[in-house]
Amino acid sequence: NPHYFHFQGQEFKLQAHAELRFEVEAKASVELEMTEGRGEMFGTELAKNKKYIFVSGSKVAIYTWHGCTIVLKGKAEVAYISKETPMVVYVNTHAALEQMRQKAEAENTRGPRILVVGPTDVGKSTLCRILVNYAVRLGRSPVLADIDVGQGNMGLPGTIGALVVERTADVEEGFQQTAPLVFHYGHKSPNDNFQLYNMLVSRLAEIINVRCEQSKKVNCSGVIINTAGWIRGAGYEALKQAAGAFEVDVICVLDQERLYNQLKGDLPDFVKIVLLPKSGGVVERSQATRAESRDNRIREYFYGLKNNFFPHSFDVRFNDVKIFKVGAPSLPESCLPLGMKSQDSQTKLVPLVPSNSLLHHVLSISAATTVDQDIVETNVLGFLVVTSVDMDKSVFTVLSPAPRPLPRNILLVMDIQFMDIK
Ligand code: ATP
Repeated sequence: NPHYFHFQGQEFKLQAHAELRFEVEAKASVELEMTEGRGEMFGTELAKNKKYIFVSGSKVAIYTWHGCTIVLKGKAEVAYISKETPMVVYVNTHAALEQMRQKAEAENTRGPRILVVGPTDVGKSTLCRILVNYAVRLGRSPVLADIDVGQGNMGLPGTIGALVVERTADVEEGFQQTAPLVFHYGHKSPNDNFQLYNMLVSRLAEIINVRCEQSKKVNCSGVIINTAGWIRGAGYEALKQAAGAFEVDVICVLDQERLYNQLKGDLPDFVKIVLLPKSGGVVERSQATRAESRDNRIREYFYGLKNNFFPHSFDVRFNDVKIFKVGAPSLPESCLPLGMKSQDSQTKLVPLVPSNSLLHHVLSISAATTVDQDIVETNVLGFLVVTSVDMDKSVFTVLSPAPRPLPRNILLVMDIQFMDIK
């Protein structure tokens, strides 16, 4: 049974196929050590006698195939052992994908492309992490793509992105993100600019195809795509569009029969659709918790997960940069130039005159070197936050992960804001 405890150290003995679940209290941390046996966190094996630190708000599950002993120290909210987990189903899914990879390898074709879908809080990101980790443990290098703009696992919230994974996720910090490919979207929901969202998903798929063509290993390892929990109406259309753009072979539907049946009816037969159970351990998050975790993600980008990064702050002259936003307010068709559709304006680049309204906004630094490039469909190199604007001096101050100078001078404004208070 779940119970609360504050302790100096508590030992948990896990039998085979059991899982230890715990959450870390706000403003606290928990130290974890595996003293015996073998265990894994979302597909990454724990090292024996290594002390892992989990920060405030972490929700953790340590699963064991053969049994292990775990010692926790610090303030965990609930900590309990569960024997009911979907891990066997998940590992079977992995085994089926691995067979597809072997076939692809032998025939020199493309490995499986998997879209993970389902409502919010069913463990989509976690399933992606498990499947990617298991693939990597077998020596594969799959692409992990994230088109959930709400959380921004790859870049920041308001972006979509992908990376080739060659090492299992770090227990504390997740997948190493040395060179993720990230696109600026600018909003926290796909619904805020549906046209742009779909366009960027297609663009991401295109670039992944190019990357796959360059490497046989990546190509046969396949692509695992995490999606947003938005599954009705336009959200459902966006999922179908993503399935098409990535030419997926498999769709894993977590915990929703209705969505499963709907997809079965709507997608071509060669797409395998599987319904998977969710884990009872996945914790539901309120709107407030989601907003908080978005904020934490941005703070983490600048300050590091354990406050171990030292961001820079400097002034940028209005004249030294070109600032844009993507998408003009849509006008009725009758007001548009002949031949232009109102949807075109949604993906249009609009120059912005710097003003106080930039304050607290997140800016993406485009990789584009000139305004003649297709900036909307160009990836971004990193992010800034505007911490003050001085109209008299025509400068604004930014929080930046790296010192001056900026690597490029084309900046894209997000809707998303971040207040730099600790
Ligand atoms: P979203 O709707 O935001 O896309 P999601 O469906 O992707 O959410 P996850 O992010 O995978 O869900 O999981 C939600 C939270 O639950 C995460 O903090 C994750 O670490 C935690 N979690 C996942 N599986 C378990 C488990 N078996 N036991 C305890 N916590 C878990």
